[in-house]
Amino acid sequence: MRVRTLSGDELDLSQEVLGAWKSRLRGPVLGPGDAGYEDSRTVWNSMIDRRPALVARCLGTADVIECVRFARDNNLLLSMKGGGHNIAGLAVADGALMLDMSLMRGVWVDAKARVARAQAGCVLGDVDRETQLHGLASVLGFVSLTGITGLTLGGGIGYLTRRWGWTSDTVVGMDLVTADGKLVRASSEENDDLFWGLRGGGGNFGVVTGIDYELHPVGPEIVGGIVAWPASEAPRVLELYRTLAEETPPELTMVALMRPAPPAPWLPKERHGTPIVAILACHTGDPADGENAVSVLKSFGTPIGDILTRRPYLQMQSLLDATQPKGRRYYWKSEYLPRIEPDLVDRVMNHASKIRSPHSAVILFQLGGALNRIGQEHSAAGNRDARYVLNIAGAWERPEDDEANIAWARDAWSDMRRHSTGGTYINFLTEDDGAERTEAALGGALDRLARIKSRWDPENVFRTNRNIKPM
Ligand SMILES: Cc1cc2nc3c(=O)[nH]c(=O)nc-3n(C[C@H](O)[C@H](O)[C@H](O)COP(=O)(O)OP(=O)(O)OC[C@H]3O[C@@H](n4cnc5c(N)ncnc54)[C@H](O)[C@@H]3O)c2cc1C
Repeated sequence: MRVRTLSGDELDLSQEVLGAWKSRLRGPVLGPGDAGYEDSRTVWNSMIDRRPALVARCLGTADVIECVRFARDNNLLLSMKGGGHNIAGLAVADGALMLDMSLMRGVWVDAKARVARAQAGCVLGDVDRETQLHGLASVLGFVSLTGITGLTLGGGIGYLTRRWGWTSDTVVGMDLVTADGKLVRASSEENDDLFWGLRGGGGNFGVVTGIDYELHPVGPEIVGGIVAWPASEAPRVLELYRTLAEETPPELTMVALMRPAPPAPWLPKERHGTPIVAILACHTGDPADGENAVSVLKSFGTPIGDILTRRPYLQMQSLLDATQPKGRRYYWKSEYLPRIEPDLVDRVMNHASKIRSPHSAVILFQLGGALNRIGQEHSAAGNRDARYVLNIAGAWERPEDDEANIAWARDAWSDMRRHSTGGTYINFLTEDDGAERTEAALGGALDRLARIKSRWDPENVFRTNRNIKPM
């Protein structure tokens, strides 16, 4: 078996060496041709088509330690896959040893202490499902199949961000296996430098095996859903969004988007594929206050669809899942915004009118609230001046349409980035975003991150990520 090394060449591992390593693992090891290999090596974005030499499906922390030590002893290129949702495909590398964490999906909730301990292979829905049994939640993202680990290590945003900050702001501790194969704890009491860097610095410092999240009372019933109007209403709807978003309480988060109408049952058939503007809203406070807060959206103009209503928080957390299937081709461009200027609204409408695929969208996520109140020095995630995220989200089916869809997204981005804070979200960066985009995402945190990298991973073993070079 030929496996890529950290020096870039290939090493031929004998059956004897491989067999001895496998005998120390509880989980299976897969190679090309084995059942399950294709599923493991493929990620959400089908633009990414890479083939690891070996896939170790870890069944616990001891397996992770064995894999890291095996990689170290043989100088192998290593990658880690959580939910496989990173759009740049950071989880997979050609010829590498890939740790597939997706068999490690345990979640334990201590309702009294308001803490959930989740294994690193969990997807968001795994955690929400268990915490909601107790009417509790952590800050997680908008699509339930996204992996918790990649999302949390890059910051993490969702409907609760305005109340409690980045997902990483709610982390109370992490367990990880370091480059020398040791299991360590990172929290404010232990290895606090590592803890600071892990919350925003990505998979640069080790293989995370478990994350402890602080929980807050949420739901189980909330007010959430979507209201949609024809795109001809966009000037009025986006102006409403722009003014409303400046004054809403942190319990309410709104997302404005423009796209061709998906074939959703709540939209009239004759509207499917036609351009719409929509506002996705989620109020996680008292449902009566929620109904009050969203009434202005529900009574505005003449919507063509309205599913903004009382519903379980768990349902809200998976409301968008069907629009984001694994296997399409995806390309995003993204910027943090300090505010929404009328000029930006004009540009959003202009570029939405040029969308090249029925699945693409221009999206404005509302941030602000707690995120802005926490100090910049709190963790590497930074970007505390972000009030919105603009995401130009290209999604299509066929490779022959790559060029047109990528050109659309890039064109829209180069026109709209003038409104950026200068920062961008590390978890939304695509494969062709280079070091200068990592710098834009990590800003002032980079030097400190490089010092932490030098201490914990001086040989840059963990490099299949938004890489921070050791000093
Ligand atoms: C449909 C969709 C919806 C999304 N919605 C949101 C959202 O609402 N909010 C938000 O903040 N982001 C969102 N994102 C972005 C998301 O945060 C990133 O894609 C993130 O990388 C996904 O994590 P993952 O575990 O699935 O990644 P993977 O692709 O599995 O891994 C990506 C990288 O994470 C690191 N990593 C993964 N596992 C480990 C580990 N055990 N130890 C150390 N490092 C590890 C590695 O560097 C790895 O290369 C969304 C993405 C998609 C595709």
